[in-house]
Amino acid sequence: MTVRVRFAPSPTGMFHVGGARSALQNWIFAKQQGGVFVLRIEDTDAARNKPEWTEGILTALEWIGISRDSYEGPYFQSTNAGEHRAAAARLYESGRAYYCDCTREDVQARTGSQYQGYDGYHRDLGLAPGEGRALRFRTPDEGATVVVDLIRGEPTFENKLIEDFVIARGDGSPVFLLANVVDDMTMGITHVIRAEEHLPNTPKQQLLWEALGVKPPVWAHVPVVVNEKRQKLSKRRDKVALEAYREEGYLASAMRNYLMLLGWAPSGDREIVPWSVIEDEFRLDEVNPSPAFFDEKKLRAFNGEYIRALPVDEFIDACQPWLTGTGTIAPPPWQPEEYDAAAFAAVAPLAQTRIAVLSEIVPNVDFLFLASPLIDEAAWAKTMKDGSADLLDAAVAAFEALESWDAESLKSTLEAVGAERGLKLGKTQAPVRVAVTGRTVGLPLFESLEVLGRERALTRMRAARLRLV
Ligand code: GLU
Repeated sequence: MTVRVRFAPSPTGMFHVGGARSALQNWIFAKQQGGVFVLRIEDTDAARNKPEWTEGILTALEWIGISRDSYEGPYFQSTNAGEHRAAAARLYESGRAYYCDCTREDVQARTGSQYQGYDGYHRDLGLAPGEGRALRFRTPDEGATVVVDLIRGEPTFENKLIEDFVIARGDGSPVFLLANVVDDMTMGITHVIRAEEHLPNTPKQQLLWEALGVKPPVWAHVPVVVNEKRQKLSKRRDKVALEAYREEGYLASAMRNYLMLLGWAPSGDREIVPWSVIEDEFRLDEVNPSPAFFDEKKLRAFNGEYIRALPVDEFIDACQPWLTGTGTIAPPPWQPEEYDAAAFAAVAPLAQTRIAVLSEIVPNVDFLFLASPLIDEAAWAKTMKDGSADLLDAAVAAFEALESWDAESLKSTLEAVGAERGLKLGKTQAPVRVAVTGRTVGLPLFESLEVLGRERALTRMRAARLRLV
């Protein structure tokens, strides 16, 4: 039997990191089993679906390494509406489902309580199909439904506690529970690997498989992803869109490595490992069923390590969207013609060790590409104290006299200027740094001065000095 898994997102919003995690787990599992990964877009909720969300899913999958030629599909659930209706009709005809026109209030009036689920009123009343009549599945009165779940063992659900649930609405349209089962069946899915949130649906869905006469799949419900307060990640509260991480400058390689650690770890206490190791070592049945903490700080640290491990030319390439404003990433504060690839290449190795996400490249190097630096006024106020004017005068004079404009000469020259005033190098360089880069922190100062060039550096120092009059 060929293993067939599917990833079945609904295109109702930005693509969620939890979805990306489930997709990767499905994809690796299929690969390990010599099976097939199917992508199915569950687009039946016409009011909430948008084509751009579907496009976003395909692009995001591609970005984390699930390329369009490595899967079957995408299929669209909406095109299978005929099959969904036919299955509903089969269940009705075989007596496994019946029509009901009760409202919630009707049930409440009968049971005299808060709505606790449907009471089975129409089970044996033989109501004919008709407008406004929902189709309900007749759940067994006895026994239990045992879900075979690779991660959770055998969760067992008493059938008498499962209400006769709706499978098609009053307008005849099948609900998600049924459409999802019918699609899995038609597509020959053998393993349903999906988020824990769907576990409560599973006994109902398994009953539908059985009622439709097909052996149910093996299930695997991967853990819910939570924030530091142990709340389920929510798009209203947390940063959940894979796209947002991409735009901030997370590397796909770091992201997918991190996502695979949500509930699982490679051997030997390692966390940062080549993708090939994850593909070899990942075991779906080793995934921990407890909620998985999405630790943004840890992800950031991970990303920093991945950035540092890049060959420098790849780092330079990876920074381009932020430096040249190509793609969907916000444009940098300089004009495209001011960008100087050679200047960037000269400082790139210094920047590479200092940033954790690629977008941070901009504040580190903007001084090189702007006609005058963006002055951080708080940094200016903190740094430019009594003595700064004198220091800048002396530094300008000493730098003007330099024969060779290189980092080493600049350093020893400024050191001497400071020493004459009884100042350590740190204190001496602070006003120079703010004058030239506009900030108190950044790349090593003397290398920055060297790359910026004599004229521009001196002009900025003189301008800062004038501001101190
Ligand atoms: N379309 C469902 C969702 O986005 C997935 C259902 C499933 O995986 O079975 O949550």
